[in-house]
Amino acid sequence: MNIILLGPPGAGKGTQASKLVADRGMVQLSTGDMLRAAVKAGTPTGAKAKAIMEAGELVSDEIVSGIIGEALDALPPESGAIFDGYPRTEAQALSLDGLLADRGRTLDHVIELDVDEDALVERITGRFTCAKCGAGYHDHFIQPKAAGVCDVCGSTEFKRRPDDNEETVRTRMAEYRAKTAPILPLYEARGLVERVDGMASMEEVASAISAILAD
Ligand code: ADP
Repeated sequence: MNIILLGPPGAGKGTQASKLVADRGMVQLSTGDMLRAAVKAGTPTGAKAKAIMEAGELVSDEIVSGIIGEALDALPPESGAIFDGYPRTEAQALSLDGLLADRGRTLDHVIELDVDEDALVERITGRFTCAKCGAGYHDHFIQPKAAGVCDVCGSTEFKRRPDDNEETVRTRMAEYRAKTAPILPLYEARGLVERVDGMASMEEVASAISAILAD
């Protein structure tokens, strides 16, 4: 099974993808994570992407479709893929069709997380993760049980994404509205789109997604 999680920044795509990985053994293909890894490793792709990401703009379609193609090649044929943060433009959606077809894969579901944009800025600007294991927290919603100590691995180091500030978040939302939301009709025409209320609790969103995948 191959699925796309679609929704504006902060809608909870990454959180839900991690749950699907844990519960169903699917593989999460997050272009955001891959690009951040490239920036950290200082690769040529990372060098090109860094300033664009910090501004909240979109990295070129060629770069992201290239890294998705490589990630698909590394994926065992029996593993299902969760596309998280990709495709983000019509050109990427068309590239994905080709990448999947070349590998004998089909797209089964496009799940749109429907959210209230005003709530997203608060969600995003408050979020932080454990620097060691990546567990996610939030200034107002999910603090570690013991202040300053990761619940999962005990690390005392945390980090925030450089693009999670209000100004960049507004640009990311505008990019979503202008370039990503317009790809929904492509998938709607194929009867692939299902909407989930992304403002519900994490567990409720997860069970709504499970119900869609069980169909
Ligand atoms: P979010 O969904 O929270 O905005 P991501 O981690 O998916 O965050 O992406 C972070 C940044 O990485 C984006 O703002 C953009 O600069 C870049 N990026 C990620 N995926 C893509 C993509 N498919 N196309 C273009 N740029 C991308």
